[in-house]
Amino acid sequence: MKNTLRNKTVVITGASSGIGEAMARTYAAQGARVVLGARSAEKLEQLTAAIRATGGQAAWCAVDVTDAAQCKALIDTAVQTFGGIDVLICNAGISMRALFDDVDLAVLHRLMDVNFWGTVNCCKYALPYVQASHGSIVGISSVAGLHGLPGRTGYSASKYAMTGFLETLRIENLKKGLHVMVACPGFTASNVRFAALTADGSQQGETPRNEEKMMTPEEVAGIVACGIRRRKRLCLMEIEGRATHFVKKFAPAFLDRMFYWVMSKEPDSPLK
Ligand code: NDP
Repeated sequence: MKNTLRNKTVVITGASSGIGEAMARTYAAQGARVVLGARSAEKLEQLTAAIRATGGQAAWCAVDVTDAAQCKALIDTAVQTFGGIDVLICNAGISMRALFDDVDLAVLHRLMDVNFWGTVNCCKYALPYVQASHGSIVGISSVAGLHGLPGRTGYSASKYAMTGFLETLRIENLKKGLHVMVACPGFTASNVRFAALTADGSQQGETPRNEEKMMTPEEVAGIVACGIRRRKRLCLMEIEGRATHFVKKFAPAFLDRMFYWVMSKEPDSPLK
């Protein structure tokens, strides 16, 4: 398992926090050259400095993934600094919490812009380089990309859209040695619930779940690296993801009820 990504150039979006930051630190420590993208320039600069201070190789580029030109600049940074790209990890993402009854449509547009279009934008410019290296494109989806998650219509839709896009990209590149993987973490302790959008588009600012009982971003980073090494199509993580994937095939209506029940137990759940 060790040194999985040694000597690989790995571009990671959403690297300023949570899972993206953990992937950056973990992979750099394994000997990867990491290229970090997110909007928070200061955090990326600090993370890059921290990685370099421990002997790692890193570069960064401030990028809003909803802007295609900025995604091109991120990819250009990787190519100019390290000469190519072996792995693109489309990880930048936001979530939401509101019933569709109540939500402003702008929230759903925002979810699609960041999670889906952010992935498409980065893939567009990285593709020739990852094709040339016979490397990997990874989308960080979610268990909500395996089955609809109530209160998260826009989130689930954006993750399903990522899967449709990435699956098609895989098939189009079947003869070109390109590896495409969809990774589906379950609940992972991070900033995602604090930054999640509510019905009116404001940030939730708190988490409705116990973050201490979740997977850590470092655990997710390790499992994703393993998936890349094994060139998996689908990377499931813990019991929630594996059970969802399995039960959906045989008892999808039961899964509907389970998802409703679990999410209705959250404090202040919008489910009645
Ligand atoms: P965090 O909120 O901790 O990190 C999200 C990252 O995305 C930040 O680095 C943020 O950086 C970046 N980001 C957000 N919007 C944009 C944008 N417009 N352009 C560029 N970067 C952006 O959450 P996680 O680490 O948990 O989330 C990472 C991925 O994992 C997401 O795709 C999420 O859907 C997925 N996931 C998370 C789960 C969880 O429970 N945590 C479960 C399943 C999947 P900045 O604000 O600096 O731009």
